[in-house]
Amino acid sequence: MELPHNLGTWVGILGGTFDPVHNGHLAVAEAVRQALALSSILFVPAFLPPHKLTYGISAFQHRAAMLDLAVADRPGCFVSRLEAEREGPSYSIDTLHTLAHGFGKDVRLFFIIGMDAFAEVFTWKEQGQLLDHASFVVVGRPDHCRQSCGQTVAANFPGYAFVEALGCWQGTPDQGAIHPVAMPPVKVSSTEIREVVRLGGPIGDLVPAAVADYIEVHGLYR
Ligand code: ATP
Repeated sequence: MELPHNLGTWVGILGGTFDPVHNGHLAVAEAVRQALALSSILFVPAFLPPHKLTYGISAFQHRAAMLDLAVADRPGCFVSRLEAEREGPSYSIDTLHTLAHGFGKDVRLFFIIGMDAFAEVFTWKEQGQLLDHASFVVVGRPDHCRQSCGQTVAANFPGYAFVEALGCWQGTPDQGAIHPVAMPPVKVSSTEIREVVRLGGPIGDLVPAAVADYIEVHGLYR
């Protein structure tokens, strides 16, 4: 597996379908990087997203190429194509396992997800083991991030308690923490972008310029 070499030792992992990557994804990456002083963010596009097998997702190489363009002028942001190297659906537990072993013990991984996804975490494959490989970073709206996060933690992660001094939930010493990060919502989704493109509208305010150009040149979402 090819991994970037210059990621540093505190690495945020942002998985998704990225069909296409948009300004909301980039804002999340930046907010989390600043909040937890991470050394880098690794974007990991899903090859076959288990939750989105019902619509015709764009080819992996298009989604990954758009991510390459989006991070090209963002220091500390990288793209991994590791999920394309596995057969079948892209489960987070398999990705974290691969990354944790690929990077070794000196690198700490922070798995970034939105509050909505975190609330569904009990449906994920081997959810109990996710925190063996990484800490969670749960991004939510400032008004109820910590409260909603706390409810999901209480329901799904017995043994975790909030440590006020660190601003996160912690379990046993060898388990990852769960960090809430409050962030104002960025009103954009990939679904909206695909729909705007299909109708011939402008997306210049929703994605980086190079991504908008790529969508146009390759005739995506028409
Ligand atoms: P779609 O509209 O196709 O469902 P999406 O815009 O939600 O896609 P994904 O690639 O599924 O994008 O998202 C990857 C991750 O980014 C998820 O954890 C998701 O919660 C988060 N995310 C997506 N859009 C936003 C946004 N506008 N603000 C904050 N987080 C976001």
